[in-house]
Amino acid sequence: MSNSIKINRCPVCKSRSKNIHKQFSYEKTINKKVLLKINKCLSINCNHIFLGEYSKNDLKKHYRYPRLITKVNKSEIEYYDGRINFIKQNIKFEQSKSLLEIGPGDGFFLKRINIEKKYFFDRNPNIIKKLKKIYKFFNFKNSKQKFDLICASHVLEHTYNPKIFLKKLKNKLKLNGAIFIEVPDFSYFSEPENLDGCLYEHTHYFSLKSINKLIEGLNLEIVAFRRFLNRDNKASHNYVIQFLLNFKGKGGCRIDKIFKAKNYKEIGEFKKFLNKRKKILIWGLGSNFFKFSESINLKNYKNIDYVDIREYGKEIFGLKIQRPSHYYNNKYDLMIIATTDIENVKDSLKKNKISYKKLFTLNG
Ligand SMILES: [Zn+2]
Repeated sequence: MSNSIKINRCPVCKSRSKNIHKQFSYEKTINKKVLLKINKCLSINCNHIFLGEYSKNDLKKHYRYPRLITKVNKSEIEYYDGRINFIKQNIKFEQSKSLLEIGPGDGFFLKRINIEKKYFFDRNPNIIKKLKKIYKFFNFKNSKQKFDLICASHVLEHTYNPKIFLKKLKNKLKLNGAIFIEVPDFSYFSEPENLDGCLYEHTHYFSLKSINKLIEGLNLEIVAFRRFLNRDNKASHNYVIQFLLNFKGKGGCRIDKIFKAKNYKEIGEFKKFLNKRKKILIWGLGSNFFKFSESINLKNYKNIDYVDIREYGKEIFGLKIQRPSHYYNNKYDLMIIATTDIENVKDSLKKNKISYKKLFTLNG
């Protein structure tokens, strides 16, 4: 790689503690054999996965290559319409008069969404030339214009610094406006090498946890999110996360409140089990569980076992995170499943003969 740079700190939380998550060589559109070093941040409330070394020159060249025009199939139309519905359901869509899309690709989303004024920004000369005929090209540096809706699908995972990128979008957002982001989801289901998602140009592999961490301190809040899989879609063979961001409301983070209200009863019961020193198993140490337990100092309790199929071997609250098989034949008073793939967890519990008297499932 020509003039490659090494990323020494986590681009999301700035932690220096990281390890090599995966390493493999890959030949991509840049037509070179490159060694991809994928790092994982070891800060437990971040765990962001990112490319540890890359060349900005190579990436710049790559983004200038002509893009092939692809025909949109039926399932892709459904996919784009699903995206539009998600946006419509979660913002005041009728009041949204202006849209800026970053990285519009073929421009199909721009075409499909019904908003009065449509702008776009892209780095690829061919895309700019083609889309300029229909939509306005937005000049990021010189324009003071602000937008009701800013969309960036499959862009954030390509940025050098996702925090600076989001800041730039925020500066172009109207006070009541919303930012829509879509990225591949690496929370629990996907490993980078299992899919197209591991590309030379992907500098980041986001999970809900690292996204939560990313927007901290940006005066933005997640007002809605959705994760789903669409294997027929060329743009996303894998799980994706979509989320909408607003300026943070006066009353604090809205999604936290929704979450707290939903789990209010469970939190109370969880505290009772903890204080009575009952045996508890927590399965899944992602943002769901951290949100659920943030009002409790878990360091004070040793009556909890922790299972996480990706984080095992590490420590949390002074206790070791284990694989499910470590607790073979164990019996629990309370079981908390804090991942979304509940059916898989139940299968694994059965396989490992782990039983419980009471079950809570925390689901986003
Ligand atoms: Zn980090």
